[in-house]
Amino acid sequence: MDKHLFANSILNWYAKNKRDLPWRHTKDPYKIWLSEIILQQTRVKQGLPYYQKFVETYPLVQDLASADEQNVLRLWQGLGYYSRARNLHTAAKFVHHERGGVFPESYQELLKMKGVGDYTASAIASFAYNEKVAVVDGNVFRVLARVFGIDTDIASHKGAKEFGALAKSLLPDEHTDAYNQGIMEFGALQCTPQKPDCMYCPLQTHCVAYAQGKQKELPVKIKKIKVKHRYFHYLLFFYKNNGQTFVAMKQRGSQDIWGGLYDFWLEEQPKLLSAIDLLDVINLPQAQLKKMVIGKESVIYKHILTHQRIQAKFHHIEVKPAQKDLPMFDKLRFYEVNEVAALPKPVLIDNYLNKDFF
Ligand code: SF4
Repeated sequence: MDKHLFANSILNWYAKNKRDLPWRHTKDPYKIWLSEIILQQTRVKQGLPYYQKFVETYPLVQDLASADEQNVLRLWQGLGYYSRARNLHTAAKFVHHERGGVFPESYQELLKMKGVGDYTASAIASFAYNEKVAVVDGNVFRVLARVFGIDTDIASHKGAKEFGALAKSLLPDEHTDAYNQGIMEFGALQCTPQKPDCMYCPLQTHCVAYAQGKQKELPVKIKKIKVKHRYFHYLLFFYKNNGQTFVAMKQRGSQDIWGGLYDFWLEEQPKLLSAIDLLDVINLPQAQLKKMVIGKESVIYKHILTHQRIQAKFHHIEVKPAQKDLPMFDKLRFYEVNEVAALPKPVLIDNYLNKDFF
């Protein structure tokens, strides 16, 4: 298909069909960067309120840089992939402290920001600065694979190179920002993964996938996601004092999911266990445990992440106020329930606290 015809079809389609989204009304690289990070692996409908909250709370990159990481994570709560929020914060500090608040102004410079890879750097460079770079996301892979009938695996190195080169060769001489937005929007709304609207598609007469009935087969993505099953047992130590309840929590390290967020004492096992079996296999100081009241055991909570399926149970263990200083609690801290509500937590923990604990 002719390059000019392709680009013009996309630009015309975009002018008529684009969604009215706040980050499309700005050239501010900070806001465009926020929207791009928030929208990674997230649908527009889910990401939009987060974008609005971030822009409202931190209108400038300096505001985000000066924020407490805990507050950034709290605002991010529910979006998942928490390393994105931590990287966002680190990158804001980089811009503020090392670049005097001046946002990087080119694709190459943008790549120096933590959490900004090829896709995000291209998107910001194109949308904020009109730099002539091709933006290739999952939508673009799909549109190109179908229109040009390319069956190279998009998850392979070869595929990335081939599609990258094709996307670059198709860039129009002008309006590359609208064109890049347009081809992504076209993939999101017209040439969708499951039900592409071929009947009313402006590219129909040129589309190889349509001519050969291969819409379902293209694009080819061979890399399969390996799903890991995990079994979490949360020990929820708490005590009551003068009408207040205090819960033991700890901040998670950055090596596993939910880095930087707060959860309870966690025992992970190869399968789900009852409270009695669990206490048999884990290494708790039995003498101290005997003086505590082992109470409610929750139903099974299921939590799905892209690569993980988590099943979790919560076990309540009431301790006496004086026991909170026992060495076994060294890695935890007891928080009053109002403080707990303000901590950034995984959705699984938040759901449990709201449904079954408070
Ligand atoms: S004809 Fe169908 S498969 Fe081809 S680009 Fe249009 S919507 Fe996609």
